[in-house]
Amino acid sequence: MAKDHVIHLIPLVKIDFPKPKMTYLSNFGQTVPIVSYIWYLEGPRENIIVDAGIAPERLLGRGYKVEPMQSLDQGLSKVGLGVGDIDFVILTHTHHDHIALAHKFPKAKFIIQRAEIEFDRNPHPFIAETRPADFMELIGGLDFEVVEGDTEISAGIRVLLTPGHSAGAQSVAIKTAQGTAIITGFCCIQENFEPPAELRERISFYTPGIHLNVPQAYESVARVRELADLIVPLHEAELVHKATIP
Ligand SMILES: [Zn+2]
Repeated sequence: MAKDHVIHLIPLVKIDFPKPKMTYLSNFGQTVPIVSYIWYLEGPRENIIVDAGIAPERLLGRGYKVEPMQSLDQGLSKVGLGVGDIDFVILTHTHHDHIALAHKFPKAKFIIQRAEIEFDRNPHPFIAETRPADFMELIGGLDFEVVEGDTEISAGIRVLLTPGHSAGAQSVAIKTAQGTAIITGFCCIQENFEPPAELRERISFYTPGIHLNVPQAYESVARVRELADLIVPLHEAELVHKATIP
């Protein structure tokens, strides 16, 4: 039997973000605090984290209020680790808030879906024109381990192909003492899974506001809802009050 894992939250940056970018075509004119995290999956074997994070400097000058929380090194030191200790980084997807610090991990392998990396190497013009100018440098030279579809990464840790937000976004299902926790592979907040009560007869959840393919993104949210005992939305700011899940 796989041993239970404990998910450690490592928040790096808080941002006041346009809410419709989380909740599809809803809440125009509103901003919502979101947090850029990395997640350490404490378990019996390899040192595995989810996502590589971003430094606050990259987010300045975009019109958002940006609040640095801690550096990557500070965050990892709180769980007794340094960048050189990380064996695997599971990349949920390659938007820059999830990969910008990838080159800080000297010996890590980066687990990515085939659909994600193939799209990145040959992107549709509408993405190619909007992604950061240094995007290819951010992913260039990384030691990728490419997976295809749902895949077990280690006992008790599985990735689930949940595309739509990006071409090959993957969510991470982790066996914990509370059951299966799923860190979503798409940028969202708790409200995506809990729309306001007055809307719930009509809307069971909000599709992420940023996406390549809306129906696929919708199906991916539905899938996470169905499979998770505990949903961990990738950018939920309320989670900063917790050190670990469960
Ligand atoms: Zn994101």
